[in-house]
Amino acid sequence: MTEPFTATVLGLPRIGPKRELKKALEAYWAGDLTSDELAATGRALRETQLRGLADAGLDSVPVGTFSRYDQVLDTAVLLGALPERYTGFADPLDGYFAAARGTDELAPLEMTKWFDTNYHYIVPEISPGTQFSLHPETLLAELAEADALELGVPARPVVLGPVTFLRLSKAVGSDAPLLDRLEELVPLYADLLARLADAGAAWVQIDEPALVTDLSGEELAQVRRTYDGLAGAQQRPAILLATYFGRADEALRELHDTGIEGLAIDLVAGALPPPEVLRGKHVVAGVVDGRNVWRTDPDRALDALETARAHAASVAVSTSCSLLHVPYALAAEPGLDARLRSWLAFGSEKVREVRALADALAGADHEPAELELTRAGLASRRDDPRLHREDVRDRLAALGEDDRRRLPADERRALQAERLDLPLLPTTTIGSYPQTAQIRSARADLRRGRIDQGEYVARMRAEIDAVLELQEGLGLDVLVHGEPERNDMVQFFAERLEGFATTSAGWVQSYGSRCVRPPILFGDVARPEPMTVDWISYASSRTSKPVKGMLTGPVTILAWSFVRDDQPLAASADQVALAIRDETLDLEQAGTAVIQVDEPALRELLPLRRAERPAYLDWAVGAFRLATSGVADATQVHTHLCYSEFGDVIEAIAGLDADVTSIEAARSHMEVLEDLNEVGFDLGVGPGVYDIHSPRVPSVAEIETSLREALRAVPAERLWVNPDCGLKTRSSAEVGASLANLVAAARAVRSAR
Ligand code: GLN
Ligand code: ZN
Repeated sequence: MTEPFTATVLGLPRIGPKRELKKALEAYWAGDLTSDELAATGRALRETQLRGLADAGLDSVPVGTFSRYDQVLDTAVLLGALPERYTGFADPLDGYFAAARGTDELAPLEMTKWFDTNYHYIVPEISPGTQFSLHPETLLAELAEADALELGVPARPVVLGPVTFLRLSKAVGSDAPLLDRLEELVPLYADLLARLADAGAAWVQIDEPALVTDLSGEELAQVRRTYDGLAGAQQRPAILLATYFGRADEALRELHDTGIEGLAIDLVAGALPPPEVLRGKHVVAGVVDGRNVWRTDPDRALDALETARAHAASVAVSTSCSLLHVPYALAAEPGLDARLRSWLAFGSEKVREVRALADALAGADHEPAELELTRAGLASRRDDPRLHREDVRDRLAALGEDDRRRLPADERRALQAERLDLPLLPTTTIGSYPQTAQIRSARADLRRGRIDQGEYVARMRAEIDAVLELQEGLGLDVLVHGEPERNDMVQFFAERLEGFATTSAGWVQSYGSRCVRPPILFGDVARPEPMTVDWISYASSRTSKPVKGMLTGPVTILAWSFVRDDQPLAASADQVALAIRDETLDLEQAGTAVIQVDEPALRELLPLRRAERPAYLDWAVGAFRLATSGVADATQVHTHLCYSEFGDVIEAIAGLDADVTSIEAARSHMEVLEDLNEVGFDLGVGPGVYDIHSPRVPSVAEIETSLREALRAVPAERLWVNPDCGLKTRSSAEVGASLANLVAAARAVRSAR
């Protein structure tokens, strides 16, 4: 068999340690950079990265995980599967970016979450007319480029596998299952393998994360035939089949005797499959977490590695998945407190951990220095009082079922109606208003010390005044303060809660050129002081209409953060929920009658495997209810959910028991209302009546039509009128015009009753 390697990572981030690629892309799109300059940026990033891996002592390095936008879109290009409307461009790069981001004339392809991560990929469209063809030039060029660096370490090309590619694509123009088209892809992949072997690759990594999802017997058989075909290819590198984000035992069992040589297995989100699956294989054991930021426990890792070695032909140490999901290096975070730093491993620390664990596995004479660092960090983490706060734990232990329950919905409705005195079909908005240039410059001025906190608050208050004046002028019924003071709906709270840290440069690619800096939840959570009360009280003091308190829910705060790995997520969720509950009580105390707790990410944390979903939804709903059940029954709780396909979560939405739920239904034509009826939902609901993701201003007639349509599914007493999401990304002119039409439509429908 091909010489096995001992230490590697499954893939690499590409946005650049200082977001060099982001800046280059945006300059290119703005016409300020040539395509050659853009290409040079990519080349420089790849070179630095590969040299870094070789210097750190990895003995196989991944090539081909770079992307100018997204690896799934790249695979569509590799397989000639870009829809025709994007292929007519004189410069193919223009077509590529048109597919990714659209042009004035062309809508882009859809985008959705990459498994259960916060990375978003471009969804290829496959139609009956799609004729696959192989275009391996980019991958071959990157392989040649890596060889030319003479790293002294073999480059291992990485491709997205055919099963995952089809599984993540969208079928258009036919209902036939896309996996039926695997047979068309096998010869193309076989051809690709031959080209890679020709180019000197000893190993190829084929990524098949889709194998960790539920697959039917028929689908498993299709997977089997595919890999029989690939393993049987005449001339090919050794195949490393990489699965990650969970367990793929069924598929790996099925594929065991196909002749593939290697298996990369996620030992963080998953576990070792049974011994017979490992037998005879080169096992690339993903013991270093590729998507969270903690140092690896060496004892646990070495245990798993030794077990793998007992059954496999050979073992290499690796990350559990690509390093795409974590920041580049701790070096960019001098501001983190020293103890916390010692617990963390970002990308470059993880590479060192991989090498050190491989050395330890190989029986190094003395413990590698990196592991000593890790052990010291782990010891300090175990003992840190911030992780074990009696005050927090006692409060949680004292909670009972009553703390997650309010009066029955109809009794609450009566109390709230009396308190709020709203018209039928009340109008409201979701929270944010346009992020104006003034808001951005005030934030930048504060950061650079050009203005002090007092001046900043004054400027934000002026923004709040303007947004309130707009809403009053338009005649909206329940107002919002517009969220000008929030850089981000999760980071804002993470900065104000104990137990969270935020980074200054911990950027992670969200999609394309878009990056986020997820906060780090490291300890027990508590709220030292009110977080939003001053802002909401100020807003309330400026109007006689109700102003919604605006909070982010516990599940969303966790979903968009790096979370603790030393306790179940459910326990962290309850801690965050308790802090949010404290905030709701202070808001109420300050006179707030309506409080919205956003949970746009409720669906995002849904486990990949069906069998695990009920348990997740149970604690997620429980945490939301803990956050929202402390207030009086006359206080109206709203929530906002940011998606329109509910599938598995429809019962959970009813379970949240929010008095009013606003949802992104503008594009799903009220179907969701009928689904809600089916699960007995009888609370207030505001199906978004227009799509804020588009600059288009909806007409009064159009909004009236959708309201009338909604009234067929929901009695008027329960129907709210609102846009389908926050207005942060829209221009002031669009918002003014759209909301004027929204109010006019609500009035027209009201008076016709
Ligand atoms: N309240 C938030 C806003 O309006 C909700 C954002 C979201 O749904 N993601 O911006
Ligand atoms: Zn939303």
